[in-house]
Amino acid sequence: MLYLDGSLGEGGGQVLRTALGLSLVTGTAFVIEKIRAGREQPGLKRQHLTAVLAAAEVGSAQVEGATLGSMRLAFKPKALRAGDYRFAIGTAGSTTLVLQTILPALLAADGPSTVELVGGTHNPMAPPFDFLQHAFAPVLHRMGASLGLQLRTHGFYPAGGGQWRATIAKAAWTPCELLTRQEKPQFRARIVLAKIPQHVGEREAATLRARLGLRGDEVTIEEVASVGPGNVVMLRLGFGAVTEVVSALGERSVRAEDVAAQVADEAGTLLAANVPVGEHLADQLLIPMALAGGGAFRTLPPSRHTTTNAQVIEQFLPVLFTMREDQRQPGSWVVSVRPR
Ligand code: ATP
Repeated sequence: MLYLDGSLGEGGGQVLRTALGLSLVTGTAFVIEKIRAGREQPGLKRQHLTAVLAAAEVGSAQVEGATLGSMRLAFKPKALRAGDYRFAIGTAGSTTLVLQTILPALLAADGPSTVELVGGTHNPMAPPFDFLQHAFAPVLHRMGASLGLQLRTHGFYPAGGGQWRATIAKAAWTPCELLTRQEKPQFRARIVLAKIPQHVGEREAATLRARLGLRGDEVTIEEVASVGPGNVVMLRLGFGAVTEVVSALGERSVRAEDVAAQVADEAGTLLAANVPVGEHLADQLLIPMALAGGGAFRTLPPSRHTTTNAQVIEQFLPVLFTMREDQRQPGSWVVSVRPR
């Protein structure tokens, strides 16, 4: 039995999600206290609760404390089961973070699985669906793990109602290194509007063109059906071995130009540092690399979120992370993992 402190490091939902995922993979029971103690409204929110219940179903786990607002959870997995699952958050909570929780387990299970998810697909502070599709899944593929993704409906805060499906097979993990990138990236921007006037998308596109020098054919504006209104600006940066996706969500009192400028700023940081992996992809790669028993990537200075996640992983798996700045390339860090 492992005892975890949910207020560790960054003190957010990631400590819980990583613990659930690796508890299922390793069969290790755990108790976590002070869940999301670092947040304004601590404890389990709907998205985290859905993740707990999803993990319990995938691992036939015994669970105590799975209620909204709970700051303590005891989780004891019994048997991992591949299969066909459906999880609906019931709010616009992030469905991609629910999948993130159970993905390591389904990649370890004997047999194929499908997971249907209902809720938010493009949320603030979470990987948008397109990030999973274009940044995360291709790297997983290189590491011997297959994640198929099909988006049916976009879901935005606060209405939610997005729907998509993931197809997962047992992984044959192989370590991979993502240390270099092609000098000139290929750009592809996708601006999505749901029940939002077209001029918003056009102003966002104009900002991306002006700030990053994108050509007209590198930017598409798409109107999509969704339960509620929503707007997201997403930019793919094709770096050769890796594709990064940076994104920003439209918000009521934020000007369209400022939404696109957030994307341009984040892309600018990535381009200036000359690294293939950005802050968020770094977060998502830690567990797969640890499960593969090794690997390394070059990235921006690791966030507190990343360092916290690594600490939690080290409690479940016999691996050691190192994160070092490359003295020859200031501002560029190499994160690596090896067996302990
Ligand atoms: P809380 O932080 O309130 O506990 P949470 O559980 O939703 O809530 P975090 O622990 O902050 O959130 O984790 C958010 C996850 O989403 C992290 O893995 C982070 O890298 C990822 N993420 C956030 N924004 C983006 C983005 N724009 N693109 C890709 N991934 C993102």
